[in-house]
Amino acid sequence: MEHLERDVVVIGAGPSGLTAATELQRAGLSVAVLEARDRVGGRTWTDVVDGAMLEIGGQWVSPDQTALLRTLDRLGLETFSRYRDGESVYIDPQGRRTRYTGEMFPVSEETEREMNKLIESLDKLAAEIGATEPWAHPRARELDTISFHHWLRQQSADEEACNNIGLFVAGGMLTKPAHSFSVLQAVLMAASAGSFSNLVDDGFILDKRVVGGMQQVSQRLAEELGGNVFLNSPVRTLRWPGEDGSAAQGVTAVSDTVTVKARYAIMAVPPNLYSRVWYEPPLPRRQHQMHQHQSLGLVIKVHAVYGTPFWREEGLSGTGFGAASLVQEVYDNTNHGDSRGTLVGFVSDEKADAVFELSAEERREAILASIASYLGEKALTPEVYYESDWGSEEWTRGAYASSYDLGGLHRYGKDQLKPVGPIYWSCSDLAAEGYQHVDGAIRVGEATAAAIISAARS
Ligand SMILES: Cc1cc2nc3c(=O)[nH]c(=O)nc-3n(C[C@H](O)[C@H](O)[C@H](O)COP(=O)(O)OP(=O)(O)OC[C@H]3O[C@@H](n4cnc5c(N)ncnc54)[C@H](O)[C@@H]3O)c2cc1C
Repeated sequence: MEHLERDVVVIGAGPSGLTAATELQRAGLSVAVLEARDRVGGRTWTDVVDGAMLEIGGQWVSPDQTALLRTLDRLGLETFSRYRDGESVYIDPQGRRTRYTGEMFPVSEETEREMNKLIESLDKLAAEIGATEPWAHPRARELDTISFHHWLRQQSADEEACNNIGLFVAGGMLTKPAHSFSVLQAVLMAASAGSFSNLVDDGFILDKRVVGGMQQVSQRLAEELGGNVFLNSPVRTLRWPGEDGSAAQGVTAVSDTVTVKARYAIMAVPPNLYSRVWYEPPLPRRQHQMHQHQSLGLVIKVHAVYGTPFWREEGLSGTGFGAASLVQEVYDNTNHGDSRGTLVGFVSDEKADAVFELSAEERREAILASIASYLGEKALTPEVYYESDWGSEEWTRGAYASSYDLGGLHRYGKDQLKPVGPIYWSCSDLAAEGYQHVDGAIRVGEATAAAIISAARS
């Protein structure tokens, strides 16, 4: 077991921990980053599967994600636009398929009116409440104690409109059923992306990808840290002075390979994993309680690679939506400069539970049949098929990120980023702008580093 002394020990080598570490190092503080996995990047992971490069985790960049765009620029990484020429496909609740162009689904006039009304209401709430302190708004408790599902139905009697709007936050973002989180949580999701209209606009929210893959952000940041990133080093124990202890005692992080004594620690892991670490002494009551109300959603990101992007020849963009379909969203995810065509689809929350009951072969058949219902029979026979299954990953346990259960956001949100003695918290799950995204991971990483630099100098 190696023993090190540093100013700061960072637990987790995802984009948030690595951003914090590089900022701290640049300010002259010494760091060590301890990572449980045998790779950096956390929920971003670019890998080659059966000869196809796949973005197994986070990949898209939107124009408002300026912290990520700045980081990409600094690291010399380029972006490319998602293919979106041609018609999209909408599958209605009865399973009928319609081709369309533009942002609005091809629904009846009445449903379109209801969808626009809901978008307008959510835009208004997002603008009024914002992403920084949703818990501080006078209506926070009221909006945090009603589920998004029920709130939508209070606003509209049109079930198709409610399900279509629900899709953008429930299945599409938090990857939890709309009955399990509050409208305040949905408003935070919208506000963190600038507006609810931005979430609905796939041309905005799924704008660009990184040439060569998103994991490179973490890989390049780790390179800047030289030998200070330790892989295969899950932190098991964190010793800290306790609430009444002296800061001079610092913290000690004990991992499987290395023990680091430091002045400060950053827990740069998603909140559902905080309690995987043994704290000596235990964390205070508030953290014990709060951490039980933050959980990750569940989504299967499905990748299917074909000899050619056959849908383009048929005038289709590859984009499809169907709130009632097994695969509720599908997109062209062809790599930059690749002659093969790649589709990506998403199976979320309760639908994911259901297909995980099937055998792998049955699941693949059901998922490909659902993709084919948007894009035709050719979708049934990909050259490469892969399911990103983050729920099975010990060091993540779900996807994409964490959110509070009903009523948790207004109750605990104000304390989620408060340091506990020398222990700081940093991850995309605690972000305001860029919440749940790589951009948010970077923003919180930068803010955490700034707070520690300021504390270290005082
Ligand atoms: C399938 C999927 C699709 C996504 N799509 C997008 C997208 O298109 N665009 C986008 O911006 N975002 C997307 N995201 C979200 C994005 O990837 C995350 O928000 C981002 O990676 C979070 O970064 P982080 O550093 O906060 O946490 P993580 O990336 O989770 O990093 C945390 C790290 O901590 C490590 N760790 C955990 N416990 C310990 C321990 N005890 N000791 C040591 N190390 C530990 C983990 O192994 C991990 O490496 C997606 C995520 C998934 C899973």
